Amino acid sequence: MKKLLVVAVAVSGLWAHADTYPSKPISIVVPFAAGGPTDRSARDLAEAIRKPLGAVTVLVDNSAGAGGSIGANKVAKAAPDGYTLLFHHIGMATMPTLVRNVPFKVESDFEYLGMVSDVPMTLIGRPSLPAKNFKELVNWIGQNQTKINLGNAGVGSASHLCGLLLQSALQVDMVTIPYKGTGPAMTDLIGGQIDLMCDQTTNTSSHIEAKKVIGYAVTTAKPLTTPALKDLPTMQDAGLKGFEVTVWQGLYAPKGTPPEVVSRINAALKLALKDPDFIRKQEGLGAVVVSDKRIEPAEHKKFVAAEIAKWSPIVKAAGVYAD
Ligand code: ASP
Repeated sequence: MKKLLVVAVAVSGLWAHADTYPSKPISIVVPFAAGGPTDRSARDLAEAIRKPLGAVTVLVDNSAGAGGSIGANKVAKAAPDGYTLLFHHIGMATMPTLVRNVPFKVESDFEYLGMVSDVPMTLIGRPSLPAKNFKELVNWIGQNQTKINLGNAGVGSASHLCGLLLQSALQVDMVTIPYKGTGPAMTDLIGGQIDLMCDQTTNTSSHIEAKKVIGYAVTTAKPLTTPALKDLPTMQDAGLKGFEVTVWQGLYAPKGTPPEVVSRINAALKLALKDPDFIRKQEGLGAVVVSDKRIEPAEHKKFVAAEIAKWSPIVKAAGVYAD
């Protein structure tokens, strides 16, 4: 009897909460440093989703480090009340294979709220590199081999994955320099402190256009049409057979968030993804805003499970498993 009463009180607490949600600021955790591509997309999204959520304040919390796992773990362990959300990318699917001992379970520690966008990556170099195109870059890499500094956002990040695949395809070992995000890594690349990096077009296209870095190739199967990137070859056309990485991004809440709150956020997300300003900002940087069924939480979850299954053998075959 006593037990029943406790359950009844807990359930009625959830219903009452779902009715009034949201009634205080919502924080979107970005598991990488400010100024990088994940941060940029999350800030654009925070602005677009604010109105559909009833003009509540939506803050971005950069909980960076450990290739994205610190921020993801923070949300996995947060109160499941809809006030702490996670904006994360392909690392949700690749980290479980790339890294041992991930402190959270991607498939069971989160409620899936819907996918947001797909973002291609680019291979870029410091402006003073003597190689001016991909072919010259391959020669330069061959001559410099182990002296090359390759920046990334930590073990398990998208730039880590892309860099590992590149080293595996070219059969070279570069020196990996991990940052808390590719925002700060970009500052060092522009300054010439590191040589190369793979990163989302949402961070690289404006710097390629301004000639602050050299663009070598894109990681999509087909060339891109974004003005700053349209002249770059695909990795595959440049000779790296089967090399294809697209960084998809999505929104998550801690497991146990009430279904009504999940539906409320999903409804707001659907409106945000139709916001012309959000689409213009993101697509101008090479991203493609999701307009397919992956906007539904169940489809988002299915997609991530399929990506885990897809990447696990690729990562293992490339021998890029990190300790
Ligand atoms: N682009 C980064 C990555 O490699 C993350 C970031 O700083 O947004 O995953």
